[in-house]
Amino acid sequence: MNDASNLSQSKKGVILIVDDTPAHQLLLGDILTNEGYSISIASDGLSALSQARSLNPDLILLDICLPDMDGYTVCSTLKCHPRTRNISILFVSACDQSINLARAFEVGGVDYITKPIERIELLARVRHQFQFRRIQDQLIDQNLRLQQEIRRRYHLETELKANRDRWYLALQGSNDGLWDWDITTGSMYFSDRWQEIIGYEPGVLPPLRRSWQERVHPEDLEWVLEFIRYHLECVTPNYYAEYRLRDQSGQYRWVLDRGQAQWDDRGHPIRMSGSLTDVTLRHQSEEQLQLLLVTGQAMVQAEDTEHTFSSVLTKLCQIAEWDVGEAWTLASDREQLIYCWGSYSHRPDPPQTLLTFEQERRQSYFLQNQGFAGRIWAQNTPLWIENLESSASVVPDQTLFLKAGFKSAHGLPIYADGQILAVLIFLSLKQRPRDARVMDLTQAVASQLSSFMLRKQTEQALTRANTELQRLATLDGLTQLANRRKFDEYIHTEWRRALRDGQPISLLLCDVDHFKRYNDYYGHQAGDACLRWVAHALESQAHRVTDLAARYGGEEFAIILPNTDLAGALAVAEHAAHAVRELTIPHEGSLVSDFITVSIGVASTIPQVGTLPTRLIAQADRNLYQAKAKGRNCVYGDGEIRSRPIRPELGQEESQ
Ligand code: GH3
Ligand code: MG
Ligand code: MG
Repeated sequence: MNDASNLSQSKKGVILIVDDTPAHQLLLGDILTNEGYSISIASDGLSALSQARSLNPDLILLDICLPDMDGYTVCSTLKCHPRTRNISILFVSACDQSINLARAFEVGGVDYITKPIERIELLARVRHQFQFRRIQDQLIDQNLRLQQEIRRRYHLETELKANRDRWYLALQGSNDGLWDWDITTGSMYFSDRWQEIIGYEPGVLPPLRRSWQERVHPEDLEWVLEFIRYHLECVTPNYYAEYRLRDQSGQYRWVLDRGQAQWDDRGHPIRMSGSLTDVTLRHQSEEQLQLLLVTGQAMVQAEDTEHTFSSVLTKLCQIAEWDVGEAWTLASDREQLIYCWGSYSHRPDPPQTLLTFEQERRQSYFLQNQGFAGRIWAQNTPLWIENLESSASVVPDQTLFLKAGFKSAHGLPIYADGQILAVLIFLSLKQRPRDARVMDLTQAVASQLSSFMLRKQTEQALTRANTELQRLATLDGLTQLANRRKFDEYIHTEWRRALRDGQPISLLLCDVDHFKRYNDYYGHQAGDACLRWVAHALESQAHRVTDLAARYGGEEFAIILPNTDLAGALAVAEHAAHAVRELTIPHEGSLVSDFITVSIGVASTIPQVGTLPTRLIAQADRNLYQAKAKGRNCVYGDGEIRSRPIRPELGQEESQ
């Protein structure tokens, strides 16, 4: 009965009987055992304390008078110990003893019973204690659970609050505005930051969806609404759009809008919330970068200034939202600005007023200080006219602008090294307040254009210098005819062409007669002058653009005649010889005439595959030799002398 493990298995409960009277022990033990309780017995206080600790009974029936200590002491000792504190203690007192009830309850007793023991009463009290104990246990258990629940909730709430704080901080850090749209009622919550992004004090915007919708840029609204619809219809997992939103001042800001909807059980969207980020700055820098890239690219690819202005102005008008962009460049006399290019964003269908305006502008030019362009030139500084109507002092040609419907204008000079290169003018059909961003952007482009124009000017100067160099490299310094190098190049080119086309090509080799004697007689300088005249006379007979007269070397000249047969070449040769004679340059030392004369060898051929022009040159050279041999002052071609002097000259030597 005292076995701890058996006792603890008892279903009804374990009761420790503490009484030093064996008869009482027996009586109590019988009654309780018969009722199904497990019992244990202690006869004194000490064994009661030790059994209470080891058995952990549900109830102790504690006699007040014990041999070693009284029941109160046992009770208070048990109540002091954590392991035994919760055991219910029911005092049992003999009828002759007076129980100190106050003390009994004070030390922790829950009830008392007096001897002689009445079975019914005992059982009722014990049952009551067990019931009470059960309820107490339940209460303790519930209490414990409640405490746990409270701790859990407290933990959750702390977590939630920390989370909320984190989100709040994150949102504040991200600088995003929040919105929450109740789809069923159409009402909309905008956070303070949301309103601040578009320049409103909190609480000014009505909490309605239209407060947002009517501020979306008209060009963006349709597709933004479509994006929202896609999400509400579950086509897209979330809503994401970047568009323009009008702020309180009427300007548009770029925003990034993101959201997520909620649906009811039937799949109908009921709510959508999200965040709004101001991405204006990013957009502006992207646009500026894009513009500078485009303009940079246009300048690299541009063939000329007009093409560059065309692409740069068009792009600038698009990005900065101007209706017209014009470029006025300085005329070559540097006295006036002339129209270079105009870009009209209303193309391909511009209103008639703009067409008339463009026509008038094309025909205009401005002196310094004349018109808006001339005023910018004179002041050499950018000007922004918010309202053209009240700008007559700055915009002398104001009436023309107003007639075309323009309200605002912006102009700026493009200059380099203190020199004006051009003036840019931008016009808007809407009134536009001065916009520092647009001015900066335009200024950046103007700087690029300035470098471009300078580069173009340098390139042009370089091209001119190159052409001149090229000309000099192929020119004979004394006579200004093509030199031998050019002759060689040209005869090869024309030879190939003639070969390709199956056409004849002819060559004249001309040599001044007795020129050594001329030098000897008149001096070398006179000889040089003479060569210049002869060169000029010969060249004058090379009529066709494809004919080429060249100095072949010393006092020898050559004329290449593409597409010319022998007959034609002989005719040219005769005219050339005649032209020299006609110069009537006195030549005392000549053995064939009183004047300077030439001998000309003529050769002509249709080039054949595998042949070179050297063959033609050799033939002409042989014929020249023949002309010399046959008496000079003549032309030798197809095996006979041609071009005897028309009028026999004095002292002419007939060598035939
Ligand atoms: P021929 O009628 O047989 O051609 O007799 P030529 O004296 O004209 O021929 P030759 O080849 O004997 O002499 C050519 C002269 O031309 C020799 C040279 O002093 C002169 N000469 C060549 N080049 C120049 C030049 O650039 N300037 C001057 N002044 N004389 C030149
Ligand atoms: Mg010679
Ligand atoms: Mg000669």
